Amino acid sequence: MPHIITCPTGLTGSIRRLKVREERFLADRKLAKSGAIVDELLRACWEETHDAGPYDFGGKAIDWDKVLQGDRFFALLELRALTYGSEYAFAVNCSEPGCRARIDWELNLHDLPVRPLSEESRAAFLDGNRFETRLPDGGKRVWFRLLTGADERKLPAMRRNAGDRVLSAMLGFRCLEVEGVEAKNKRRFLEDLSMRDADFLLDEFDRVDCGVETTIEVECQECFARQHVQLPFDQSFFLPGKARAARRRDPSGSSLK
Ligand SMILES: [Zn+2]
Repeated sequence: MPHIITCPTGLTGSIRRLKVREERFLADRKLAKSGAIVDELLRACWEETHDAGPYDFGGKAIDWDKVLQGDRFFALLELRALTYGSEYAFAVNCSEPGCRARIDWELNLHDLPVRPLSEESRAAFLDGNRFETRLPDGGKRVWFRLLTGADERKLPAMRRNAGDRVLSAMLGFRCLEVEGVEAKNKRRFLEDLSMRDADFLLDEFDRVDCGVETTIEVECQECFARQHVQLPFDQSFFLPGKARAARRRDPSGSSLK
């Protein structure tokens, strides 16, 4: 029986479980560092496209470079859930300075909220992946894009090259055009942006995007502080057996919720 999934944009296809032969992707440190592991897993396990959603693959096989980050990530979670089940156990450290205890947590991946691509965003994406907004402080209009698989692969290098200017590099990477600003002056304009405008832009990127919500609330079992954390994607995500073995060795990790 094929396992059919529908991604947040409507992209629909069948996936298969990970096989032992995919272990070479999981163990490859170079791949993991570049983020290319996601591409390899999606390519290997996406069997057939039933509905291309908003994408134009020219009648050919799916091109994950063109697929939005939100869809890619959704497909990756489904792949994991299909292969090992949807229960995911992981550990994070408590953020309370006086505590820092290890928090063991477990959740069902299918309980994470999924936001579909809105009709408005679909139209902007089809219109050349061009989204418009207006800065509250500067009053200028800005056009930006949603990130695709091809962009995702450039992110690690972009962050490395940005040094201590990650925010302006990120904004420059996503903003296509600023009203009344020549392309060669775009980066300088973004450097001079008020933090309020920058914050507004980051919110806008999120508001129009689709995908899986990965900020979750956990509670420390030591100090009972509730805190928001980003769902971690360590090795146990695709090799949960290793996490199980580690917990068995570490008795403090045996109090799984
Ligand atoms: Zn704590």
